[in-house]
Amino acid sequence: MEQAAFLQGRAKDGKCLLRDGYLFRIGKRTPKKSYYTCLVSKCSSTVCLDPDEKMVLSSNGIEHNHAANPSEIEVRKFHQKLRQNILDQPNTAIPQLYKETLSSIHASSEVLSQIPTFSGIKNYMYKVRASVRPPLPKTMEELQ
Ligand SMILES: [Zn+2]
Repeated sequence: MEQAAFLQGRAKDGKCLLRDGYLFRIGKRTPKKSYYTCLVSKCSSTVCLDPDEKMVLSSNGIEHNHAANPSEIEVRKFHQKLRQNILDQPNTAIPQLYKETLSSIHASSEVLSQIPTFSGIKNYMYKVRASVRPPLPKTMEELQ
């Protein structure tokens, strides 16, 4: 059995299945199987996972009609690492986390050109941070 591997992208496209250098997004879930389809919309390659999405059960055997895009995967890895760093280090300043994550990935210039700038991604980063910090109390009663 083949274990399913996922990459967490940015919130809007959620987690993607990574298999043989290609990325898949959830198509539909049934009680017995989850179907992931290739991120490239003109491609019909589909992979079936068990309902817990831990194992790859089968694929539909259709070859991808396009080349794999390794830099897209690296960009997603950057996002995943950035998100994880924000969650793991709640007391480190956001701009510093961005810098540290960027310098830790050893990205090629092609990958770097696809990684958002700090100002392009800071709203997302602060949103992730807000999700791990308890909200500020609104009234005096909540403070007691
Ligand atoms: Zn494909």
